[in-house]
Amino acid sequence: MNLTEVFQQEGKRVTIEVPLDEKIKFDYEWKDHPIITLEFQNLEKGKIMLKGWGRVSFPLSCDRCLIPVEEVLSLDFERHLYGPDVSLDEDTKEEQYYLEGYQLDLSLLIQEVLHMYWPTKILCKEDCKGICKKCGKDLNQGACGCDDFVPDVRFANLMDIFNNSQ
Ligand SMILES: [Zn+2]
Ligand SMILES: [Zn+2]
Repeated sequence: MNLTEVFQQEGKRVTIEVPLDEKIKFDYEWKDHPIITLEFQNLEKGKIMLKGWGRVSFPLSCDRCLIPVEEVLSLDFERHLYGPDVSLDEDTKEEQYYLEGYQLDLSLLIQEVLHMYWPTKILCKEDCKGICKKCGKDLNQGACGCDDFVPDVRFANLMDIFNNSQ
């Protein structure tokens, strides 16, 4: 997307809707053709305030018990964009790596935002108990009665020495 006009024209405001499709590269697949709205507002020459919002749903599965989970990201973000004629420190240049000259790479921008919102864990509920490593039972539906004692490796070695010396 070319932002020349928004960068140069004072007070200029442009709103666009970006449908998420195969042009946007991301590690996970969303559903229901989400749309992200982007609003560009010229703050002064060479400086744009970008606001973006949208909802994106991902059909995933719980990291612990594997049941299907729908993860909904409610995006609401802001970025400052600086044009090529504004002198910037290296950090700011790196931060807006999706902008080259007046050209904004929508795919890179949206990818960055999705990564920022991506949860560290996908869980069906905060305290999901997962499945038993021995019998595979869903422990959210009750205990399975397996011995859940899993010795760590160092301790297991000690147990071997102990057992062999008997
Ligand atoms: Zn779960
Ligand atoms: Zn079990």
